[in-house]
Amino acid sequence: MKRNIARAIDSAEASCNRAGVRLTEKRKNVLKTLLSAGGALSAYDIVDVYKAEFNESIPVMSVYRMLDVLAQENLVHKLATVNKYVACSHISCDHSHEIPQFLICDNCETVRELGVRKEIIEALNDSVSKAGFTLTSQQMELHGRCDDCLQVVDHHA
Ligand SMILES: [Zn+2]
Ligand SMILES: [Zn+2]
Ligand SMILES: [Zn+2]
Repeated sequence: MKRNIARAIDSAEASCNRAGVRLTEKRKNVLKTLLSAGGALSAYDIVDVYKAEFNESIPVMSVYRMLDVLAQENLVHKLATVNKYVACSHISCDHSHEIPQFLICDNCETVRELGVRKEIIEALNDSVSKAGFTLTSQQMELHGRCDDCLQVVDHHA
């Protein structure tokens, strides 16, 4: 296990302890799977990787339930627009978790997690409520091309 993954698991355990949530062996393995993947995985992908990695078949419904628990603790995030999950990039950070903004490359599926500045969220909430609407999620998922993929495109143009 890579050092940064081991560190993230330690931090995840500590924050679950503080929140009174049990990071069971299986939940921990699901989190490890996502951390090692380094990108977004669907629940079905996780079932496959889990089986290969930990030699155990777990039903996809259990995976969804574990992902829900991990998502509540901001250890993983659900990307609704692609129906996949990604490990939080800030598990080992000391700062509190901000409202995340995800930059999703539609070409290579790389996902970057950024914290959105408070002023932007406030401005967004303001215009949304003026439109007579209330957000149930403030998470943003923005699709595009990462620099690496853009360079490839330029090269061939
Ligand atoms: Zn996060
Ligand atoms: Zn951070
Ligand atoms: Zn890309």
